[in-house]
Amino acid sequence: MVKANAYGHGLERSVRALAAADGYAVLELADAIRLRMAHPRQPVLLLEGFFRSEEPALLLEHSITPVIHSPEQIRMLVGAGRAAAPRSMEVYLKVNSGMNRLGFSGEAVGAAYRALAAQACVRRITLMTHFADADGAAGVAAQLARFEGDVAGLAGLRSLANSAALLRFAQTRADWVRPGIMLYGGSPFAGRSAQELGLRPVMHLSTELIAVQSLAPGDRAGYGQSYVAARPMRIGIVACGYADGYPRHAPNGTPVLVCGKRAGTVGRVSMDMMCVDLSAIPEARIGSEVTLWGEGGLAADEVAAAAGTVSYELFCALAERVTVIEKGEPAAPGGGQGG
Ligand SMILES: *Cc1c(COP(=O)(O)O)cnc(C)c1O
Repeated sequence: MVKANAYGHGLERSVRALAAADGYAVLELADAIRLRMAHPRQPVLLLEGFFRSEEPALLLEHSITPVIHSPEQIRMLVGAGRAAAPRSMEVYLKVNSGMNRLGFSGEAVGAAYRALAAQACVRRITLMTHFADADGAAGVAAQLARFEGDVAGLAGLRSLANSAALLRFAQTRADWVRPGIMLYGGSPFAGRSAQELGLRPVMHLSTELIAVQSLAPGDRAGYGQSYVAARPMRIGIVACGYADGYPRHAPNGTPVLVCGKRAGTVGRVSMDMMCVDLSAIPEARIGSEVTLWGEGGLAADEVAAAAGTVSYELFCALAERVTVIEKGEPAAPGGGQGG
């Protein structure tokens, strides 16, 4: 899954790193076409399919696989297929097994399947569904049962699992899996760390201290003056804020590494700056390295949890203004740092 600019990691660079993948999935048609040009071999899946009548012809031309989730799409496909003959495409037929966003359910699944199978432009139908709570208490059992019931007797490969299902429910692996967050080193589970799952961070967000302030008891820091120093303390001013993608709602004490050591944020995150408590880091000074998340033992998941969100959102929010440095893979297993 390289949708949403590869979860904020950059589509092209991520696909280069994932050159061995069996296929790629995106949201935008333009991205699908770009991927197809660069990677003629692998299937490219368009996760929400198409929305305009002129789009199926482009999918046929570029051999892109749409997800079909509505009768409107089937109608558009029928028209385009005739015009594009003898071209044909693969499609994924989306079954709504309980997420209730996209897809067919019940009787409508078989009807959609037969309508698609009758089109000369449809070469192969893969049956898919998406789990709403593979990481949570509900798990996948009810949705899996509903899916199996709805597709009973229909021929085709199956694609079911996101990261959480893939890691937690081996029975969902089926023919195609759709890992997303785990590729980027994020944990899909609130209660299990990426490290515990053997996932390495891909994005490392770091910056520097650009100022250091000494506060006396009663002094305040940042907008709204919400943080009040209880004792004499040093705070560092970090060159990163919500304009870089750091979550504005991160509360006091959200973990940050300064000089590789843990510190906590103080006061409100501003557009391009935030403050950290340097009490435990006497060596910190202007220019000291600050890690917002990534390598060094500070997982994006942990920062996300402190800010009331998930690593998906932190990654996707990474702003364009942030300079990206691509690191290579370690030369040998066990040596060096992954990029
Ligand atoms: C995003 C997405 C996934 C991947 O989900 P992760 O939780 O990131 O692994 C899988 N399937 C569909 C349909 C998706 O939209």
